[in-house]
Amino acid sequence: MKIAFYGTKPYDRVWFEPMGKEYGFDIHFIESSCNRETVFMAKGYDAICIFVNDYVNAEMIDILYEMNVKAILLRSAGFNNVDVKAAEDKIIILRVPSYSPEAVAEFSMAMLLTVNRLTHKAYNRTRDFNMSLNGLMGVDLNEKTAGVIGTGKIGQSMIRILNGFQMHVLCYDPFPIEGLEAEYVSLEELFKNSDVISLHCPLNSDTRHIINKEAIALMKKGVYLVNTSRGGLIDTDALIDGMLEGRFGGVGLDVYEEEEGVFYEDRSNDIITDDNLARLMTFPNVLVTSHMGFFTKEAMQAIAQVTLENAYALENGLPLVNQVGKEMVS
Ligand code: NAD
Repeated sequence: MKIAFYGTKPYDRVWFEPMGKEYGFDIHFIESSCNRETVFMAKGYDAICIFVNDYVNAEMIDILYEMNVKAILLRSAGFNNVDVKAAEDKIIILRVPSYSPEAVAEFSMAMLLTVNRLTHKAYNRTRDFNMSLNGLMGVDLNEKTAGVIGTGKIGQSMIRILNGFQMHVLCYDPFPIEGLEAEYVSLEELFKNSDVISLHCPLNSDTRHIINKEAIALMKKGVYLVNTSRGGLIDTDALIDGMLEGRFGGVGLDVYEEEEGVFYEDRSNDIITDDNLARLMTFPNVLVTSHMGFFTKEAMQAIAQVTLENAYALENGLPLVNQVGKEMVS
């Protein structure tokens, strides 16, 4: 199988190059992300392999189909960046549904602890021998209430971590499950009663801007918000307004609505034209990271393994256990 591998970073090659050889795949690594301009580079390939900031819309599905590309191999769990309905009967979509939920949940907790205890600021200060504590006071998490939105694999892992901090955990999910050390409540109750809110649901038409002006108005003053899920879950304008009104104790954003083309790139010498992103960076209690919740050795290895297993199953007519179908989108 010939695979055009978009958005390649050095750390992708570390895992995919040797494993791809073992499978006998012919992988062509492309640095550019997959978009309307670069999709034509897939001509002559059987499959394309893409990541979260690549996209494939309906027009590109038709282009790929005409070029006889048979599959889109997502090296991610989320599939909001592909027009799944348009791909039906044309191109098979395969994903990595789970690689290390713990990687993302642990990172969510790291973000929460950072914006609460301001360790990022303390690090910079002490390196400069500024040993002052002014402005570095946080709050105890012990006995506080956390709200988890989305109780899938990552949400469940996050609940276990929050339980470890002896927090009372509220959660919301339209498909509740049993056996969690957490209490399912309505979204409104979760917003009203949580000291910490962590987002772990997928981005779809129901969840886009689930954190909006109205939701923020319901939240406790001084609430901590962490988003390691997808940027589109938060209405950034409403978040900035809430920040300016002093409503948040701290905010951790591993994902951002307009992250495409910025995240995963070194833009340190560029003029940043995204005013919202620039504004977010000015708040002392906002931590923005570059969509890296997944980024552990264990997760990277599992992503490569499952992505290539998906390709192998497709090539050999085996059951496609990780196929994404139109019934999975609302
Ligand atoms: P999952 O499919 O196991 O769980 C998602 C949960 O969200 C499900 O229980 C589902 O019922 C629930 N859900 C669906 N609609 C909802 C709604 N309207 N309100 C609340 N909950 C809703 O997925 P997962 O593996 O736990 O991943 C969650 C998300 O994390 C992914 O969709 C992806 O966007 C994100 N993610 C981010 C990173 C990162 O590096 N930052 C890595 C992996 C995944």
